Formats: sequence, structure tokens, C-alpha cells
Amino acid sequence: MNALARNFAQNMQLESPMEFGKSFAYTKVYFSTINGECVTIENYIEGETFEKYINNDSLVCGDDVGDISLKSETFAHYTYERSNKQLIVLDLQGIGYNLCDPEIASAHLRVGDETSPILFCYGNLHETAINNFVTNHCCNKFCRFLQLPDM
Ligand SMILES: [Zn+2]
Repeated sequence: MNALARNFAQNMQLESPMEFGKSFAYTKVYFSTINGECVTIENYIEGETFEKYINNDSLVCGDDVGDISLKSETFAHYTYERSNKQLIVLDLQGIGYNLCDPEIASAHLRVGDETSPILFCYGNLHETAINNFVTNHCCNKFCRFLQLPDM
């Protein structure tokens, strides 16, 4: 999930015009084992205020008028469009523009039958989160900078 979110964030930065300003980034996450136990390791994010901008059910937690909060909605919208509406990167949280620990809501919960594993992880709220986002998101100036289809 982190690698996918990281790739979307990098691509959104590349597509952003100058007026967009600063954009989000995810650090790399490394997987390993210590004494037989699986672990993930990522860079410490400097700063004081850890904030959640959008929950994994698409609820906007930010102040909904500040640039960083508006950009978090734009980022979610961007991931929805660039994945051909197959997923949305959610649970946008971190310190400033440095995000960590994303969740992904996918249009298909599984590839295969009921015995197949859930895509991404159990935080995948699937159509519920996607429908919440599509219903509640109102495009802002940052969506328009990226020429995303209007919602
Ligand atoms: Zn939008």
C-alpha cells in the first residue's frame, strides 16, 4: 500500500503546475524479519503535529478550508482518476506534507472467489469508502490545477 501511495504521490507532484505548490510524499518502507518476526521500518518523520486529513472511510478530518486539507482531498481524487476508478488512497495522515500508513479502498474487494484474500488489507472499506468519497467530494482549486474531472 505504501509503495502504491508513494508512486501516486510522486506522479501527482510531477503533474502539478507551479501554482499547485508543495505536494505530498511518502517515505520508503522496508520489510524484514527480526528473530523470526516480520517488521516494517520507515524513516522517522520530523515535526510536532501529527494530523489525519482523511480517514479510511473517506471522512475528511481536516479543517476543509486550509490548503493542505484541500490538497489531501485532491490527492484522493487524483488516485481515483489515475487508477481508472479502481481504487482510492485514503487514511491520509502524517506531519505536514510527509504522509505515512495509507489505506486503499478498492472497487473489487478480492480477485477470485470468497476464499481469496482481501486486497490490500482489512482496512480496505471497498465500495463504502469509494461511494462516500464520490458523493461528498467537491472539487477545489487544486483539483482544477490538475485538470481532474469535476465532481
Ligand atoms: Zn476533486
